[in-house]
Amino acid sequence: MKLLSVIVPCYNEEENVPYFYEELKKQEAFFHDKDVELEIIYVDDGSKDGTVAEVRRLHEQDERVHLVSFSRNFGKEAGIYAGLSKSKGDFAVLMDADLQDPPALLPEMYSYLEQGYDAVATRRVSRKGEPPIRSFFARMFYRLMRKISKTEIVDGARDYRLMTRQVVDAILSMREYNRFTKGIFGWVGFQTKWLEYENIERVKGETKWSFWKLFLYSLEGIMAFSTAPLAIASVLGVLFCFLALVLILVIVVRTLIFGDPTSGWPSMVCIISLLGGVQLLCIGIVGQYLSKTYMEVKRRPIYLVKEEL
Ligand code: UDP
Ligand code: MG
Repeated sequence: MKLLSVIVPCYNEEENVPYFYEELKKQEAFFHDKDVELEIIYVDDGSKDGTVAEVRRLHEQDERVHLVSFSRNFGKEAGIYAGLSKSKGDFAVLMDADLQDPPALLPEMYSYLEQGYDAVATRRVSRKGEPPIRSFFARMFYRLMRKISKTEIVDGARDYRLMTRQVVDAILSMREYNRFTKGIFGWVGFQTKWLEYENIERVKGETKWSFWKLFLYSLEGIMAFSTAPLAIASVLGVLFCFLALVLILVIVVRTLIFGDPTSGWPSMVCIISLLGGVQLLCIGIVGQYLSKTYMEVKRRPIYLVKEEL
């Protein structure tokens, strides 16, 4: 008998917790035939609604339902880590509570593991039901990431992923505090089969990601998996030094030929503020990396557990 761990990060999903359970149960027969048992790990990410109560109720009915409840909201990335740590399965799958990751895809995903793949990942090929600006910036982000990072980060990739214990252990071995899961999946590698499907809108409740939150998350991704911004700072520095040298030459020659009429204060002020701005920008970039390094060096736990079932 093999065990499949289903990991569901939940933040204020009281309506979706039981609904997800019912939907997942529909796949039970398939896995039963394959001699695979299921365990469901709901990770409560500091929800303020009745999510924990719902999971507790399910746990009383069905002992295969487990709970990890955080002391506060640590973010989905931490939830994924906690779920994977608690999982005992020979395989593990990450799924959203809002059924945007259709459980009906599980049998097909499992069949690829049987064929010898280490992981089966999913990406959505459309972004219907999403505000157009959000899709636009998402596309820009992936295009930029492909250019500046060596780690493969796939456009439209979801966290819906089925993997073997070997891959789970590889992900768990990455104990970094600033967790950009999409990058971590790419970084660990292994044979991955990609499945595509159309975007599905969440069944109940609202998305937990505001545009601003997504924007900050994308910066996190860039900094976690690329040091290109640091290189940009040095390139800018070199560029401006070169420009200054040329300008000095021009001014010296002009003064020698035409004399010095002491002009150019406005242009001077412009140049000083431009250079001041560039310097601040570069210090800011260095500061961002430094702050990330600072958080890593503290070695704080990725999450704190309040209750476990
Ligand atoms: N989630 C979480 N912690 C958070 C935000 C979200 O555990 O701080 C969970 C959420 O409950 C859901 C999944 O992550 O199960 C995906 O969130 P959501 O549906 O809001 O994101 P979207 O699908 O809109 O990208
Ligand atoms: Mg969702």
